[in-house]
Amino acid sequence: MLSIQNLHASVNGKEILKGVTLEVKTGELHAIMGLNGSGKSTLANIIAGKNTYEITKGDIFYKGESILGKAPEARSNEGIFLSFQYPVVIPGVNNTSFLQAAYNAKQRYLGNDEIDAIDFLDLIKEKIKLVKMDDKYLRRGVNEGFSGGEKKRNEILQMVTLEPEMAILDETDSGLDIDALRIVTDGVNAFRNPSRSFLVITHYQRILDYLNPDVIHVMIDGKIVKTGGPELAHVLEEKGYAWLENPSESM
Ligand code: ADP
Ligand code: MG
Repeated sequence: MLSIQNLHASVNGKEILKGVTLEVKTGELHAIMGLNGSGKSTLANIIAGKNTYEITKGDIFYKGESILGKAPEARSNEGIFLSFQYPVVIPGVNNTSFLQAAYNAKQRYLGNDEIDAIDFLDLIKEKIKLVKMDDKYLRRGVNEGFSGGEKKRNEILQMVTLEPEMAILDETDSGLDIDALRIVTDGVNAFRNPSRSFLVITHYQRILDYLNPDVIHVMIDGKIVKTGGPELAHVLEEKGYAWLENPSESM
């Protein structure tokens, strides 16, 4: 599904990603863990197509094709989705209209029929049940006046509406209390299937207790320093990250 090969990226001449190699197979859920500032969001943003980074080396393949030359909207329409660490508020743009515009843009791109406002409302009212949000959030501006947790749920609502095949969740757990975390992870789990892949970025093991990742990667200073199974999250919870900073030390 996704293959990242020796990716190096800089901002204003400062190298942030220093050779990231990562492969997510179809149907798998991978987690990337790491302390603040290690480059996790940079990697997520680059996959989604944010263009403020300079890719100096390496490549990203999605379904076997390099995506570095593609616009963010093309990547999205082809099935890549990013849930932002810091969701954007768009005052005055109605949440439902926004979702409908994104949904229809994808249908157009794929050569499918668009859906009208009335049918879309039926669709979105089904989708919103997955994140247990009240319908009133559909009538507000995008994330306008939403709490931190409501913004994260709204990101997941976008995900289940757009039905991506490669979903990247950047710290969707941050700012969620335990009930909201449960709702969000239930929503993600209900959305999992053998043809979808996930990259879940977090620095706490807690969300992974609910998501049963297949593979966990640890990122330090712009590099994946360790890859392992679900048990790695618990080792990190117990031992922190310091023992990994010298990669020659073993578990
Ligand atoms: P993480 O998500 O793991 O916390 P980030 O990818 O947000 O890490 O940031 C990695 C490093 O890159 C940090 O040191 C951050 O300050 C730096 N960085 C990210 N974006 C920019 C930018 N636009 N300009 C300058 N530095 C940046
Ligand atoms: Mg981040």
